[in-house]
Amino acid sequence: MTTATSALVEALGRGLPGDRLMLDPDVLAPMSHDEAEWAPAEAAAVGVRARTEAEVQHVVRTCAELGVPVVPRGAGTGLSGGANAVSGCVVLDLSRMNQVLEIDAGNLLCVVQPGAVNNDVKAAVAEHGLWYPPDPASAPWSTIGGNVATNAGGLCCLKYGVTRDYVLGLRAVVGGPVAYGEAVRLGRRTTKGVAGLDLVGLFVGSEGTLGVVTEVTLRLRPAPAGTPRTVVGAFPTLVSSGQAVAQITRRGLTPAVLELLDRACLEAVEEWKHMGLDADAAALLLARVDAPGDAGAAEATAIAAAMTEAGALWAEQSTDDTEAEALFDARRLAYPALERLGPVLTEDVCVPRSQVPAMLEQISEIAARHGVRTATVAHAGDGNLHPCLITPPGDEVAREAAQAAFEEFLDAAIALGGTVTGEHGVGILKRDGMRRELDPGSLTLQGAVRHALDPRAIFNPGKG
Ligand SMILES: Cc1cc2nc3c(=O)[nH]c(=O)nc-3n(C[C@H](O)[C@H](O)[C@H](O)COP(=O)(O)OP(=O)(O)OC[C@H]3O[C@@H](n4cnc5c(N)ncnc54)[C@H](O)[C@@H]3O)c2cc1C
Repeated sequence: MTTATSALVEALGRGLPGDRLMLDPDVLAPMSHDEAEWAPAEAAAVGVRARTEAEVQHVVRTCAELGVPVVPRGAGTGLSGGANAVSGCVVLDLSRMNQVLEIDAGNLLCVVQPGAVNNDVKAAVAEHGLWYPPDPASAPWSTIGGNVATNAGGLCCLKYGVTRDYVLGLRAVVGGPVAYGEAVRLGRRTTKGVAGLDLVGLFVGSEGTLGVVTEVTLRLRPAPAGTPRTVVGAFPTLVSSGQAVAQITRRGLTPAVLELLDRACLEAVEEWKHMGLDADAAALLLARVDAPGDAGAAEATAIAAAMTEAGALWAEQSTDDTEAEALFDARRLAYPALERLGPVLTEDVCVPRSQVPAMLEQISEIAARHGVRTATVAHAGDGNLHPCLITPPGDEVAREAAQAAFEEFLDAAIALGGTVTGEHGVGILKRDGMRRELDPGSLTLQGAVRHALDPRAIFNPGKG
């Protein structure tokens, strides 16, 4: 252990029970990176598994005094390297602060600790007839703190919005102009409120670069009534499935979910789980309609018609709930299924919905030109596409080709009026892409905000 690390450990130990500190390299290593296999992680000095806000305050105060970076971490399911350790940092793991503190059914809100897992929050509020809609495919594992820090999206964003739309208030341990280690309350509990600048909005999606979120007040909805309808369309080409998305948007239809899986994803899931998936089509579109009664039936019929008009091989409403659920399970399992094939580099581009066919065309062209294997899964209704680049383990030439294709995907999205990241965050992987996307003035303002709130640059430096 270096002298600097010894001093850090000693100072942290003055305000933390001994079992909070992680020094064993075998424990620290898995705490030091997220699921973005291709994003580099450096060596952390110490890991801290905090259990209270006071412990988080002590960590931030200590790190500020010693000039040590703090990298907050939820479940580590991020796909951009956002939670990856930087050299000599403290990895601050919030996953043990996982309680649902309050459910206020009368006011449609709940208050949770940052380490509460998304699906656990959903289950807790469901007992009160309530619903927390944001549903990243990682919902069984990812934390609300991580969801807030990345402004996570998910399957039902198309109709119900992203994490930002559900965060009313926060507590955060901040730095800079207040004092490093101070806990502040941001936001409110009311449905409306415009007192002061929207600092909650600033923290949502800030990827741990402005402070550490220690509590979140979430807006809820009443639990949906009725049984949703599923419409499935099979397409001869990826581009035709994109044309169906554009067609559905043009017709003003808003399914709760509109997801795309290409043949490579279906094959990967089938090979792993043997679910009896039909992988004959080039792509499947899965739509879920939750409008009740006749309106829902009419919307489902119109979605199937839009798919047919766009060239679907077939498009029909599923009459078998088990089969429909299996298709959505396949969608959720697509990423882990692909990971079994080799290191996966995941894209997260988002384009205007009318440009989905053009982006899908570019993905095929760029991947073919670089000779890289891709599989595409997408929140297609949002224009948010995740082409995954997969290389054989240990194949450096393929890896370089994939990296070149990755950057070209980003440029193609920017050229189509899109963005380099729809929901996974900038992290490490999209830093260059973000600089190519954003207006120089916007970059300057962002730098100024970060400097004002964190002049010592200790909060997750080098990310975002
Ligand atoms: C199989 C799979 C499917 C996925 N599907 C989706 C999807 O559909 N939609 C989607 O948006 N994402 C998806 N993701 C990506 C990932 O799950 C999300 O980004 C998620 O929000 C990360 O949560 P986490 O708890 O794992 O955070 P981590 O990965 O631990 O951290 C993510 C970022 O948040 C910061 N952070 C974490 N906690 C705090 C805190 N308390 N205070 C301040 N900063 C904090 C970290 O520093 C880091 O920058 C998927 C990932 C996987 C592996």
